[in-house]
Amino acid sequence: MKYISTKNISPPASLKEAVLSGMPEDGGLYLPAIIPQLVGRSIDSLSSMTFMEIAQKMSAKFLSDDIPAPHLEEIVSRSLNLDVKLNQLDDKLTVLETFHGPTMAFKDFGARFMARLMSYLIRGEQRELTILVATSGDTGSAVASGFLGIQGIRVVILYPSGKVSPSQEKQLTTQGQNIQALEVAGNFDDCQSLVKQAFADRNLRNQHMLSSANSINIARLLPQSFYFAYTAGQMMHKTGDLVISVPSGNFGNLTAGLMAQRMGIPIHHFVASTNRNDVFPKYLQDGHFQARPSDQTLSNAMDVGDPSNLARIRYLFDDDVDQIRSKISSWSFDDQQTLDQIAEIYKRYSYVIDPHTAVGMLGLHEYLKNSSRNTQGVVVSTAHPAKFPERVEPVIKTSITIPDQLAQYLTREKHAVPMSTDYGEFRQYLMDALA
Ligand SMILES: *Cc1c(COP(=O)(O)O)cnc(C)c1O
Repeated sequence: MKYISTKNISPPASLKEAVLSGMPEDGGLYLPAIIPQLVGRSIDSLSSMTFMEIAQKMSAKFLSDDIPAPHLEEIVSRSLNLDVKLNQLDDKLTVLETFHGPTMAFKDFGARFMARLMSYLIRGEQRELTILVATSGDTGSAVASGFLGIQGIRVVILYPSGKVSPSQEKQLTTQGQNIQALEVAGNFDDCQSLVKQAFADRNLRNQHMLSSANSINIARLLPQSFYFAYTAGQMMHKTGDLVISVPSGNFGNLTAGLMAQRMGIPIHHFVASTNRNDVFPKYLQDGHFQARPSDQTLSNAMDVGDPSNLARIRYLFDDDVDQIRSKISSWSFDDQQTLDQIAEIYKRYSYVIDPHTAVGMLGLHEYLKNSSRNTQGVVVSTAHPAKFPERVEPVIKTSITIPDQLAQYLTREKHAVPMSTDYGEFRQYLMDALA
């Protein structure tokens, strides 16, 4: 299978090129050249399959040309061995819990799968692969956990000093082994700028094999499409059209859902639920897109003013906003609505949700208000509420138990290399560390 650029200028790439480079040179994003189709009995059989069975089947559809079956099966069984739970709150509302992995957010699926896939793709290489990641929190912890102990790959994480939560910092800085954290005296943009300068440094790249693990990598999207297929399978016997609300920031999760839908999986409609960063709902309303700087909100993993995966969504719909509107509705909600929603869901169902999931709930309610169809609603829950106790506990007025996955990091000792925002210093660090 080849991977094409959404800008159609760079030539189609192999799986290895697409995954290791992350991004085509023309500045577009990679998509599979062909979206494989599931038809007839394949669709019906989804309802009796486990998540792992679906993951194996769908990954073979995308990757079997490039990876021999036994290797692919091992990559999938060792990376996607995570619980996916559908929690039905009432006869019209179900929550898709994607947060049962080691860092308790859906990003574990993409990071773990990408780690094992990259490890396979560099087999036989003499040099080690170095992954550089700039993070404001969640991505870095999923990547640190997903790549821990992976042969032939070393990970360097750059995070802004004092600007990630204490528990996030522990997850970034206590893994050890092949994971190194750099604590940068600056903000997230400074971290990203250091990474970009390293990628633009030909001399450095001639000596070291560098790659990134950010959310534009196609390897992160594929496994996310598998839990949308699983959801459709589990909901198939219920009456009403399946509508899935996805709390969105960079729109990777939503794009994965659209890919599942394109494969023929019966998902009637999506709701793109955003916080105050409302560039996508504005785009659907006005028909033209306008990026803007992001605002800080309580659902901070969705504070994005220029969502990268919009390029993929536009490509999938021939850049026709009417086509996009026929499959996706979108609304934006503020922090007060988010907090009220956490309280409301707790009161009604004794179920605790995190601020990102709350935005997703609000989006689904808005859709239902505007629709007279018979609907089965699913909200993707992207993170466990215990990741945000300082926001959730005052609202539900109860303390949240911190699961062992998160608690284990808190007692470990932090190891981070202090780093200025000067590229010369970062470069020297890399030359010494990778020598
Ligand atoms: C990353 C993240 C999101 C946003 O997902 P996108 O794929 O970027 O739209 C939502 N919720 C949580 C908890 C996240 O970590």
